[in-house]
Amino acid sequence: MGNSRREFLVKAFLGTAGLVAKKSFANNDLPKPKIEKCDCIVIGAGMSGLIAARDLTFPEYSKNGFKTILLEASSRIGGRILTMEDSRLNGPIEMGAEYLHRKPGSVALWKEIELYRPEMEKVRRMIKGYMYYDGWENNLRRHIMIAKEWKLSDILTFAKKIDAYSGPNISAKEWIDQQNYTNLGRNLVDLYFTGHIPGHLDEISVKGFSSDRISEQEMEWNEYGYVNGYSNFLDQIVQGVNQHKGREIDIRYGAFVKYIKYNMDGVEVSTADGKIYQAGAVILTASVGMLKSGEITFDPPLPSFKLDALHCMGMGDEAKVALKFKKRFWPDNAVILNRIDNHREMARTYFIPFASDEKKNNVLTVLFAGAEADKIKEMSDLEVIKALCRDFDKMFPKEAQEAGGSTYNLLETTGTDEHVYLRWQWSNDPFSKGSDSFLKAGMEKSVKVTQARHELASPLMTPGLFWAGEATAVGTYTQPCSTHGAHFSGSRAAIEVTQFLNNKKRTRF
Ligand SMILES: Cc1cc2nc3c(=O)[nH]c(=O)nc-3n(C[C@H](O)[C@H](O)[C@H](O)COP(=O)(O)OP(=O)(O)OC[C@H]3O[C@@H](n4cnc5c(N)ncnc54)[C@H](O)[C@@H]3O)c2cc1C
Repeated sequence: MGNSRREFLVKAFLGTAGLVAKKSFANNDLPKPKIEKCDCIVIGAGMSGLIAARDLTFPEYSKNGFKTILLEASSRIGGRILTMEDSRLNGPIEMGAEYLHRKPGSVALWKEIELYRPEMEKVRRMIKGYMYYDGWENNLRRHIMIAKEWKLSDILTFAKKIDAYSGPNISAKEWIDQQNYTNLGRNLVDLYFTGHIPGHLDEISVKGFSSDRISEQEMEWNEYGYVNGYSNFLDQIVQGVNQHKGREIDIRYGAFVKYIKYNMDGVEVSTADGKIYQAGAVILTASVGMLKSGEITFDPPLPSFKLDALHCMGMGDEAKVALKFKKRFWPDNAVILNRIDNHREMARTYFIPFASDEKKNNVLTVLFAGAEADKIKEMSDLEVIKALCRDFDKMFPKEAQEAGGSTYNLLETTGTDEHVYLRWQWSNDPFSKGSDSFLKAGMEKSVKVTQARHELASPLMTPGLFWAGEATAVGTYTQPCSTHGAHFSGSRAAIEVTQFLNNKKRTRF
């Protein structure tokens, strides 16, 4: 790299400090930033980046063992996997990913579970999940009963219809309007579209929903939870290999990547703290929100088909609130609660993290997805908590009555009378910039919505720059917007880089 380029980077990354430095150094005496060299750089230590770095670092996985540096902007691993260990809340609480959605053996992430053996719990959402619907005589019913009453065949019919849809790139809302669904039917199909995908109903592409294979996930009867927390499982993956023959994944924290220069001969990556890294290849796992923000500069600029692929994608928002009560007021065998009627003020989904332990079963984690997350963004914690309790009062009138008129009176407080709760809004996270990607209804440019993820994942036309992360999870056995999809994409990118680096070696000698 020439001197002028180095000077530019020093100025760009030292900002004002760089200007001050310029006054006291003659131009050629500018301090030269230290350059670190390795075989591969991985950007982002979420599920996809950790797996890519693990696979590349250790010969057991890649049959090579490449010198790999993992650059992570924040001070922790996990990205959108974030377990909060707060002793006040009875145990580990998930503020990001909660469950593995697919059954054992169906996705490659289960191979890691076989290897590291985290304690897993089967969450029987169909059998032990409950749904409240304002207007039912017996308001709280098990999911399995609703499936029977609404006829499983009806549900399978609409799922098949969605997957078979091949018209223009319309939204889920337009599709539901065309089907003339009303009342419960409409609310159920709405939940089907927006329960896993964080976009608004009028943003989500029906064709994209189908090409993302979300119905395979929706049709699973059970979820699988990590008893000791999802983040703990990632620690197991990192520490497991670290203990192995004393080698480590080389993770650099606080390394926010601002600039990526790529070509066949190699890549150069610069971080906000002024460091420069050079390698044969780089894997980028940043979210669609980060890619769209423009905070990472590409040199050369990304080809237009990549930008057109990103144009087809949105980055939705999700938020979570965990609340502790003095005692449980939901059914003792419930693992998940849903409230889907239009009279609710807040969210549709409540997870019950300690359902199998009666002593700890007084905590609820509320998931606010898409429009619900947007709604609470500007609300204070107290406003959100009070509105949630008004929803609970409607769902559990007897219990609310017994508690003096409202479940609000059942909230656990600390010695200073503060409620015991946690709250996390993913659009406020500076490095995620939202919760998950989704395919958008509306105008397509050169790339069709159903091809967008393939194009984003493709390293063709970005030599040396490889792509991973949930938004790039495409294939027969995977889904985007998920940890198992992120895992799949990390392994795939590691294989691509292995082939690329080995080919380069062969052509050199
Ligand atoms: C509230 C919520 C609930 C969810 N529930 C589930 C669930 O139950 N089951 C499930 O399977 N999935 C769930 N998901 C989705 C799942 O968490 C994500 O799809 C998955 O974790 C994404 O992994 P990733 O590696 O693609 O990205 P990330 O986890 O976002 O990792 C990317 C990493 O890159 C870092 N980074 C970004 N930009 C830069 C930069 N410029 N320089 C350096 N580092 C950078 C970030 O800090 C981050 O650590 C949920 C998500 C949310 C938000």
